[in-house]
Amino acid sequence: MDDTASATSHSGPLAECVLCREPTEYPESYKGVTLCPVCEWHEAQRTACSG
Ligand SMILES: [Zn+2]
Repeated sequence: MDDTASATSHSGPLAECVLCREPTEYPESYKGVTLCPVCEWHEAQRTACSG
């Protein structure tokens, strides 16, 4: 058994945020828009505000 630490085991390069170019939590191979936690939060606020 080779159970490495916790659930978050990142290996390889991470994609950069499409907005601010900060490193995200997504792998570079991630298909789609990658946002860093900060921008993701902002986007969530924006989309939450529909009116
Ligand atoms: Zn960002």
